[in-house]
Amino acid sequence: MPETTFITDPAELQSILALPESADRRATAALTFRIPRSLTKRIKKGDPRDPVLLQFWPNARENDSVPGFTADPLEEWSDTAPKETLPAGLLWKYAGRVLVMTQGVCAAHCRFCFRRHFPAAPAVDWGEIAAFLDRNNSVEEIILSGGDPLGMPPRELDVAFHYIKDLSFVKRVRIHTRYPILSPSSLTPGLFRRFEEIEGAGKKLLFVFHLNHPAELASDAAGAVGRLRADGFFLFSQTVLLRGVNDRAETLAELFTRVFDLGIVPYYLHQLDRVTGAAHFEVPVDEGRRIVGELRALLPGYLVPRYVREIPGFPSKTPLELPSID
Ligand code: SF4
Repeated sequence: MPETTFITDPAELQSILALPESADRRATAALTFRIPRSLTKRIKKGDPRDPVLLQFWPNARENDSVPGFTADPLEEWSDTAPKETLPAGLLWKYAGRVLVMTQGVCAAHCRFCFRRHFPAAPAVDWGEIAAFLDRNNSVEEIILSGGDPLGMPPRELDVAFHYIKDLSFVKRVRIHTRYPILSPSSLTPGLFRRFEEIEGAGKKLLFVFHLNHPAELASDAAGAVGRLRADGFFLFSQTVLLRGVNDRAETLAELFTRVFDLGIVPYYLHQLDRVTGAAHFEVPVDEGRRIVGELRALLPGYLVPRYVREIPGFPSKTPLELPSID
């Protein structure tokens, strides 16, 4: 994939979009800037408050130190992280499934990313991971996550899939990605062939698309997503509740309706993980509950995702919505 597909210099984006202010340098140094070039067409020119831009534009408020916000909010890598001996790049939080951080780059770099302070992406040794899983064969699902697995060089993806296909006890492979929505042209025929091979090896393939605002949906997303659907893969979405981006029930209702129109089931609405640099994106839980309550009045229940937060050490995501009293 040619690097020119992406913009990595915020000054270039500032010029394309006629933005009044430069990106904050300290924020850019802390988390590199990157968006697909095609995404610029879905951002309003001259508008620093554009909800798509806000997700990716390095902001001076990222330098604020806010109590309760830490570098490793999910306790994945710092001193508080569990110290079992796991292969590099592998996280094992929940029964029956493991997550592999495949690489360090995503389709776009979200300023609120809970892994924004993660040390450099570990070099993943798939042989070591496969050997570990052979010794721990209660794992039925492998989650390939971010950095974005669909940004992996094809040869590395082949290595990963080669080992996964041979793990007979693994029934499901889940891919967390932003590519099909933000940059659908990145889904090459070669990628589809590899996906089909995973299914051919008897594993179910699931995709979970991260998207937060209806304007993110590329006009050609329907083609890429439609092909994934036609191949029989399972498609879900996950969204982070973000101040200034999607903190209105009407915005979320439009998002989840359009997502469903593409054949994707809205799956999770995440409470923001309290990572240093992202405090200005936080919507308090009480307000989130109110927004989700309003959302329920706008949409049928199957279009309303589960509003959850992740708490380190808990055996699953924690639901945040209060049961309704009918
Ligand atoms: S796509 Fe996910 S892993 Fe990648 S930068 Fe965004 S939040 Fe982080």
